[in-house]
Amino acid sequence: MKLLEDRILKDGNILGDNILKVDSFLTHQVDFKLMTEIGKVFAKTFESLGITKVVTIEASGIAPALYVAQELDVPMIFAKKHKNITMTEGILTAEVYSFTKQVTSTVSIASKFLSQNDKVLIIDDFLANGQAAKGLIDIINQAGASVEGVGIVIEKSFQDGRSLLENSGVKVTSLARIKNFENGSLNFLEADA
Ligand code: 5GP
Repeated sequence: MKLLEDRILKDGNILGDNILKVDSFLTHQVDFKLMTEIGKVFAKTFESLGITKVVTIEASGIAPALYVAQELDVPMIFAKKHKNITMTEGILTAEVYSFTKQVTSTVSIASKFLSQNDKVLIIDDFLANGQAAKGLIDIINQAGASVEGVGIVIEKSFQDGRSLLENSGVKVTSLARIKNFENGSLNFLEADA
């Protein structure tokens, strides 16, 4: 997605060997015009699959996921990272190792929001080693629902996430695919959409 790649080049900051900071338009401050376009591109990619729910993980997956859900006209559910006393009924959980925070946390979704009739699209802001998406797939499988695809805003293709997900039979669509960070500059592979 050219608009997204241009924005990453303009406003993204490379931290260390393998982290991209995009807090001015995606992970902290959010550009709703860019999110609107992202929502449209993902919705077009997945519109023929009969998606009934969009699922993401808090916090920074929520913005893109909500715009995709709006375009597909289905609910968006975000997995919670912290147990909440209001979550009293059945919850589905998975352990997820966070690449950026370097801690494992239990993420959860209330079972009442997913059923075996659901066809789910997973959306997330980044794909690194695939642990967040793998945890969401685990939860969706526990509900007996089907995972129809994974949509990623920014994939770091030099990490293992994509192959992990594809080897488990899930189709991945990424709007920007970063090949590497070399001498402080950023190189892209051809994106999926
Ligand atoms: P994974 O689970 O695929 O290893 O990592 C994906 C999750 O880690 C995303 O939900 C995202 O929040 C975070 N993440 C991974 N890499 C980056 C990065 O380079 N920059 C930012 N801002 N977040 C990242």
